[in-house]
Amino acid sequence: MSETPNSDINQSETKSLLDRVRIVLVNTSDCRNIGSAARAMKTMGLSQLVLVDPIEMPNGQAQALAAGATDVLANVKVVKTLEEAITDCGLVVGTSARSRTLPWPMLEPRECGAKLVQEAHDYPVALVFGRESSGLTNDELQLCHFHVQIPANPEYSSLNLAMAVQTLSYEVRMNYLEQQAQQHQASSQSNDDDTEYPVVDDTERMFEHFEQALKKTGFIVPSHPGLVMTKLRRLINRARPDVKEVKMLRGILASVEKSAGGKGTRQSDEPEQQDS
Ligand code: SAH
Repeated sequence: MSETPNSDINQSETKSLLDRVRIVLVNTSDCRNIGSAARAMKTMGLSQLVLVDPIEMPNGQAQALAAGATDVLANVKVVKTLEEAITDCGLVVGTSARSRTLPWPMLEPRECGAKLVQEAHDYPVALVFGRESSGLTNDELQLCHFHVQIPANPEYSSLNLAMAVQTLSYEVRMNYLEQQAQQHQASSQSNDDDTEYPVVDDTERMFEHFEQALKKTGFIVPSHPGLVMTKLRRLINRARPDVKEVKMLRGILASVEKSAGGKGTRQSDEPEQQDS
C-alpha cells in the first residue's frame, strides 16, 4: 500500500499513541512471566512496562522468555506502589479473572482496546494486571476507572499472567490498526474533496455534445434514437467525471466530429485541444 506524506504523519502519531498505553504488573512473583509479558507486549507494538514492587526482578530467565523483546525489559520502570505507576494516567483499567463482590464499571476486552486507544490521544493510559496467586486487591481495583474480564471458560477462567497481557494487548492493537485504516481512508477522502466537479449546466452541455457528435457519426439515428443517450448518461454519471475530465471528453467529441463531418461543430465553450 502506498503511503501519502499525510499517512506518514499519522503513522508516527499512532506510534507514539501506542507508547502511551502502559502495562502495569503488580507484585509479580515469577519473573519469567515478566519476560513473557514483555514479549507479548512487543508483538502488539506496546513498549511501556511498569513493575509495581515485583517479588523477583527480571533476570536471565526473564530475558530468555522475552526473546526479541529485551528492549522492553531494559526500559522497564520499577515503582513501589500502584499509585506511583498510574499517577499521570487519565484512564486506568484493572484486569480481573473473576467477578468481584464490589460491582464496578466493566468493559469487554474489545471495548477496552477501543477506549485505551481513543483516550491515549489525550494522556497516558494504563492496563493493570495482578498477582499470579491472588490477582489485584480490592483497594487496587478501586484505583481503576474500569475493570475488564476476559470472558474465558467459566469453569476455569484464570489465564496465565503473560497470556492475559497478550490477549488484552491484542485488542489494543486491533483498535490501533482499525484507527489507522480509518485515518488512511479519511486522508484519501479529503484528497478527493479537492476534486472540482462540473455544475449541471456543464454536464448537460456535454451530453448535448455527445448526442450531436453521435448523430454525426451515425451511431444515433435521429428517427430511432433508442436508449443510447440514457445509457450513456447512466455510465457517465456513475464515473462522475470532474471538470478536467469533462473538458477532455468534449475535446474528444470535437475531434470525433471533425473526422466524421469534415469540420466538426466547435462550440464556443469547447476546448480546442485536450487538457493535459
Ligand atoms: N488467581 C487469581 C488470578 C491470577 S491470574 C485470581 O483469582 O484473581 C494473574 C492475572 O492475570 C490477573 O490478576 C489478571 O490481571 C490476569 N488475568 C488472568 N485471567 C484473566 C481473565 N480471565 N480476565 C482478565 N484478566 C485475567
